[in-house]
Amino acid sequence: MIVEMDATRTENRERILVVDDSETNLLLLTNILQLEGYEVETAQSGPEALQGARVRLPDLVLLDIMMPEMSGLEVCRILKSDARTSDIPIIFLTALGEVPDRVTGLEVGGDDYIAKPFHPDELRARIRAALRTKQTHDQLRRERENLASQAVTDPLTGVYNRRLLETRLTEEAARSRRYGHRLTCLMLDLDHFKRINDQYGHPTGDSILRQFATLTQSCLRGSDILARYGGEEFVILVTGTGLEGATATAKKILRTIENHCFQGVKGQDLRLTTSIGVAELLPGETPEQVLARADRALYEAKRTGRNRVVCA
Ligand code: GH3
Ligand code: MG
Ligand code: MG
Repeated sequence: MIVEMDATRTENRERILVVDDSETNLLLLTNILQLEGYEVETAQSGPEALQGARVRLPDLVLLDIMMPEMSGLEVCRILKSDARTSDIPIIFLTALGEVPDRVTGLEVGGDDYIAKPFHPDELRARIRAALRTKQTHDQLRRERENLASQAVTDPLTGVYNRRLLETRLTEEAARSRRYGHRLTCLMLDLDHFKRINDQYGHPTGDSILRQFATLTQSCLRGSDILARYGGEEFVILVTGTGLEGATATAKKILRTIENHCFQGVKGQDLRLTTSIGVAELLPGETPEQVLARADRALYEAKRTGRNRVVCA
């Protein structure tokens, strides 16, 4: 039991990379930090520090300035200019009388400095403060990323939403005009979906929509963009492929949906089909126009019997 708890603690320990060319200093610092419960990594030169920071992504770097091969200032400048390591707080260890270095240290992106010889209490306090700030930053960044992802995601199915689709279509159409890349739109609408809701209830309908999205996504390449366009309508942007390739994709989706047993409530199997309209962006055409043609092709697929692909 105790062992298990200890193992968990080890997992969550904050990792500190200590960089100093003096072995004595490294030993001293490692000792203090390990007693505080931190996981400690060491580096004895600038290049070693850069390597360690990139590979191990520590939560904090304690960085000596005066080192023979490469100064700590240079190490800091490099770490702060690399997106992978720029968020790691850096505390400089500076000998007394290095005031210009301290100023430069903060200017090249250092977060704090500790004058040598230091008092262990001050070292511990400054490290805790830097780690607190980092935690707040990390939290804010995660929240920002979540918000950004929510803004482009359909909450029911987890695929992209209409807003993202329209933005990407505009971008892809511009690229297509500039570079001559081919771009094709698929518009999908589930057949007789209202019956599912009427027969099995709205929650089952919702679950079917989620299953439909997952299944459709599994038929696509990483570069294709699947979005929920409206209630039970989806749009797919197929990039780098013209009408033939995109039609093949549409047919694959059609067969996959047709042959799939969707899970209803109480484990009952439900069958479903979809209709798909396909339109390739023509020279001089606007995003709205190509979508409208895909929509007309979809309407034609519905009119001529559903469960089919029609090309505009
Ligand atoms: P068609 O083959 O002509 O497309 O028939 P349909 O019944 O699919 O078409 P219709 O447009 O008449 O109905 C679409 C249905 O989709 C109506 C609506 O209740 C259902 N729907 C739309 N959005 C949602 C949703 O978010 N959840 C659920 N459960 N149903 C939805
Ligand atoms: Mg429908
Ligand atoms: Mg519809």
